[in-house]
Amino acid sequence: MTTPMLDPIAMTPPTTVAALAAIDVHKSLPLGRTRIEILKGITLRIEHGEFVAIVGPSGSGKSTLLGIIAGLDIPTTGQVLVDGTDITRMREGQLAAVRNQKIGMVFQAFNLIPTLTAQENVEIPLYVGKHPGSTAQQAREMLALVGLSHRLKNRPNQLSGGEQQRVAVARALVTHPAIVIMDEPTGNLDKQNGDNVLNMIRDLQRQTGTTFVIATHDPNVAAAADRAIRIVDGRIAE
Ligand code: ADP
Ligand code: MG
Repeated sequence: MTTPMLDPIAMTPPTTVAALAAIDVHKSLPLGRTRIEILKGITLRIEHGEFVAIVGPSGSGKSTLLGIIAGLDIPTTGQVLVDGTDITRMREGQLAAVRNQKIGMVFQAFNLIPTLTAQENVEIPLYVGKHPGSTAQQAREMLALVGLSHRLKNRPNQLSGGEQQRVAVARALVTHPAIVIMDEPTGNLDKQNGDNVLNMIRDLQRQTGTTFVIATHDPNVAAAADRAIRIVDGRIAE
């Protein structure tokens, strides 16, 4: 009797490591005597080089989820893997290094430092980790990409909302992180600047294989993504 041939492809265990994975992530916060559940079991996997839009109604948990997968917030239960490594069990120093080296983040509020110029704000992440080369030159190049060469020396309060948003995008991208997480990056931009940011995202994805995870209400951004994950009331909707 002969052993049946095993399909070599079906036999192969999944060996690729996701850029990002969330496993049954829950987030709840105390509210008076009870707790509110913001995330109710999110499991997802995002491949290297993918551009994924996170969509869903306001208040559904998108920003909370982005904060957790970026390592800025911790889940109540569940795990987040960056390149296969569980960041929910890391100590702060170790986690900060992963964030600086692998993850760029653009917040809904831009979180620019008010006393620094646009160029200086973009230089900051280059000082934090080991990033070779002239910080000033790299910051200027990135600001040129977002159309702000004429605003290098302006402080945030001397910039429009859209300009501040583009500075935040430049700051997130200047270290060339493998994963870029953005919360409504075109939310405050007019059509032209929104298109500029979207084109930058696509160019970087194509040229450098950067992974993008972007929460958005902008139909243009969602349409440009490889796939959309819809969050409704703290869960992934089918
Ligand atoms: P989205 O980004 O999809 O609009 P959020 O993640 O910001 O949603 O918020 C999800 C829900 O969690 C909302 O109902 C919001 O009010 C609530 N929430 C978020 N952060 C907090 C917090 N720190 N304390 C209490 N409730 C919060
Ligand atoms: Mg939000």
